[in-house]
Amino acid sequence: MPRHSRKVAIITGGARGIGAAIAYRLGSEGARVAIFDIDGEAGLYRVNELRSSGIDAIFVRGDVSREGDVVRCVDEVLKIYGGVDILVNNAGIGSSGRHLFDQTLDEWERVIAVNLTGPYLFSKHASRIMASRGGGVIINIASTRALQSEPNTEAYSASKGGLLALTHALAMSLSRYRISVVSISPGWVDTSRWAYPPREPRLSRLDHMQHPAGRVGVPEDVAALVSFLASEEAGWITGVNIVIDGGMTSKMIYLDEDIISNSAEILIGVQGLADALKKILSDPSKAAETLRILRSSGII
Ligand code: NAD
Repeated sequence: MPRHSRKVAIITGGARGIGAAIAYRLGSEGARVAIFDIDGEAGLYRVNELRSSGIDAIFVRGDVSREGDVVRCVDEVLKIYGGVDILVNNAGIGSSGRHLFDQTLDEWERVIAVNLTGPYLFSKHASRIMASRGGGVIINIASTRALQSEPNTEAYSASKGGLLALTHALAMSLSRYRISVVSISPGWVDTSRWAYPPREPRLSRLDHMQHPAGRVGVPEDVAALVSFLASEEAGWITGVNIVIDGGMTSKMIYLDEDIISNSAEILIGVQGLADALKKILSDPSKAAETLRILRSSGII
């Protein structure tokens, strides 16, 4: 019997990317799948794709940050499929990448609304249905950026950090109803093949080789973990965050001579770096300026 036979799953942001791969995986393992997404065109495309693979699927259009849309989705799923067993809070948006000094309050509030308020609203309304059916699983898709940051990512990192805290808070509130709540923090996942429309990945050797696991992640990596966490085999797991990132957050990075010489093969292979150097050296004014900077820094 397929792992998720007869179960009902809601996947937010299921029209493309990681959410679409999760919908496909759960659907392939017998679940009836409702994808909820703000993008109507991509949602219809995806639901047709799922159905053409023999998956029982519906699409509900809406915005995770609007309680009315969330309630409408849960009601529709209840009407069509009779309940909810698995909720995957996957919909998310990035921040602008603007420098902290130039970020706007609107930008902050929108990222928090989609990435944190959305999962709160869906969990609140779907768990009521799960509780009345004797249990369920809520899986929140966070990010390794909940744990570590690059500059100028305040709203996104804070929203995902909040999602980790929301996960353990929900796990405690809902344990009495036999509802498990976990979060997954993916690292870099290339979603090209699950984009709308799908496209070929454009990754360099460096992108792959800097990962201890030897490659950038794909949505199927996350979907496989979701499938396990949503299954009965994961019944003793709740309230925790699971990192899936090819080893990147465990990798200690201090630049020294060894790391540079060990990475020489990768660095030489960086697409564009050799070309950029050639360009600089063939332009006398740029070459002179580059040499001046290298000399004044004491590098040469
Ligand atoms: P994506 O942009 O490819 O897909 C996100 C989907 O969510 C889209 O279909 C979009 O229309 C939908 N969406 C956006 N705002 C919405 C809203 N307000 N209401 C309903 N739907 C909405 O993103 P992805 O890369 O597949 O990421 C999925 C999740 O995984 C996100 O939460 C993201 O933060 C997280 N994540 C992604 C990566 C990565 O490298 N791709 C890494 C870590 C975490």
